[in-house]
Amino acid sequence: MTKLDCNVTTCLHNSDNCCCKNAIVVEGASATRQCDTCCGSFDENKGGSFRNLFKTPEKKLNVECEATNCVYNSNRFCVAERIGITGTNAKTSSETECATFKER
Ligand code: SF4
Repeated sequence: MTKLDCNVTTCLHNSDNCCCKNAIVVEGASATRQCDTCCGSFDENKGGSFRNLFKTPEKKLNVECEATNCVYNSNRFCVAERIGITGTNAKTSSETECATFKER
């Protein structure tokens, strides 16, 4: 389980810089830089005011990750203790990235 700090406040699942999903998928199968990765679980909060009232922010969650070039990747799962997903004002998942990616 990985602690996730996520500043993508335009995502439906974001609450208090945490994610309300209990698992996410990070994409970027051939990533060599942070900007080649993205959060595949991003969903745009189109209304802007919708808040996920029925779920609580998860402190730790499972992170499935396709970025096998990252030092924290083990069998397509992230083994980092904590990661940061960034993407201020993101409207699509490609505008997000894993800021903790580190090339092997
Ligand atoms: S730190 Fe590496 S393994 Fe973990 S989610 Fe980010 S890119 Fe994937």
